[in-house]
Amino acid sequence: MSLIPRSARHSDRPDYDEILEEIRREIHPHLSRGHVDDRIPALADLRPDGFGLALRTVDGALHQTGDAVEEFSIQSISKVFSLTLALQLEGDALWDRVGRAPSSSPFNSLAQLEHDRGIPQNPFVNAGAIILVDTILGHRGDGSDAILEFARSVTGNDNIRYNPKVTRSELEHSHRNAALAHLLRDFGNLHSEVDTVLEAYSRYCSLEMSCADLTQAVQYLAQGGLNPLTGDVVLTASLTKRTNALLLTSGVYGAAGDFAYRVGLPAKSGIAGGIVAIMPGMWCAAVWSPRLNRTSNSYAGTLALERLTTVTGTSVF
Ligand code: GLU
Repeated sequence: MSLIPRSARHSDRPDYDEILEEIRREIHPHLSRGHVDDRIPALADLRPDGFGLALRTVDGALHQTGDAVEEFSIQSISKVFSLTLALQLEGDALWDRVGRAPSSSPFNSLAQLEHDRGIPQNPFVNAGAIILVDTILGHRGDGSDAILEFARSVTGNDNIRYNPKVTRSELEHSHRNAALAHLLRDFGNLHSEVDTVLEAYSRYCSLEMSCADLTQAVQYLAQGGLNPLTGDVVLTASLTKRTNALLLTSGVYGAAGDFAYRVGLPAKSGIAGGIVAIMPGMWCAAVWSPRLNRTSNSYAGTLALERLTTVTGTSVF
C-alpha cells in the first residue's frame, strides 16, 4: 500500500482531503471482497462496489471522497440514536433491562438471549435494540417518529426519511427479530405488542442517510454531548463518555476486539455497509461499502477506518 508522506501525518492539521482520497485509492482493489447482506432482500438494490468516506472535524469542516453523499439505509447505526433517546428518557433504569457486556454471539442470537434469561447482552445486539425501541415507544407513544425527529435535529437536514421499501422488506423477513421479541416478552422484558415494536424497529433501521449526514449526526458524541448546530445538550458529558465506551466494546458486535486493535475508535456498523467512528474532541468519520465481512461489518469500510487512524496517527489509545 502506498503511504501518505510522514510530513503530512504530523503537521498541525492533517490534509484530510488528501488523506481520504489516498485511502479511497488504496481501498479500491478490495471493493470486491465480502458479500452484500441477503437477509433483507431490499438491500440487493445497493451497489455492491459503492464506497463513500467522510470526515467532519469538530469545527464543522467536512471532507469527503467517493460516494459520500449517496444515501443508504443506516440499519443498526440507528441504534446509536435509539440508545441516546432511551438514555434521555429512562436514565440508569434502562440498565435493569439490558446489559453492558461485549457480544459473545452473533447479533441476532436467540440462544444467547435464552441463556441470559431475557436480558440482552448490550443495547446494540438486536434484542437490546428491541428493548431501546420498546422504551422509546413507552414514553413517546406508538405512532412516534422519535428517531426521524432526532436524526433531523442532529443533522439539521429535514430531507432525511425512512425508506419504505426497506422497512417493508425487513418486516416481511423479520422472523428472527420477531422470535427475539417474543422471547423478551416471555421473560417479561417487553411491554409493547410484538408487532408494534417490530414495525418501529424496522422503520428505524430503514432510515436513509449519507456518510456526510452521518458525520454530522454523531457529532454530539465527539463534542461532549452537545449538538454543535444548536448548542443543545443531547447527552450529558458523562453519558457521552459511557455511550462511546459501549460503542467501543459492542458497536461492531463480535468484531469489537479486532476492530479496537485495528481501528481504535468507538464505532457502530450497520448491515447495509455503513460504519460511523468517533474520535472524541477531534472528528467523526463515516464510511459506506455494502459488502460485509464474516462479522457482518463492511469489509472495505473497516479497512478504510483502519487506514484513517493509522495514517493520521489518531485513536482513543
Ligand atoms: N435490520 C437489521 C436486523 O435487524 C439490523 C442489523 C444490523 O444492521 O447489524 O437484522
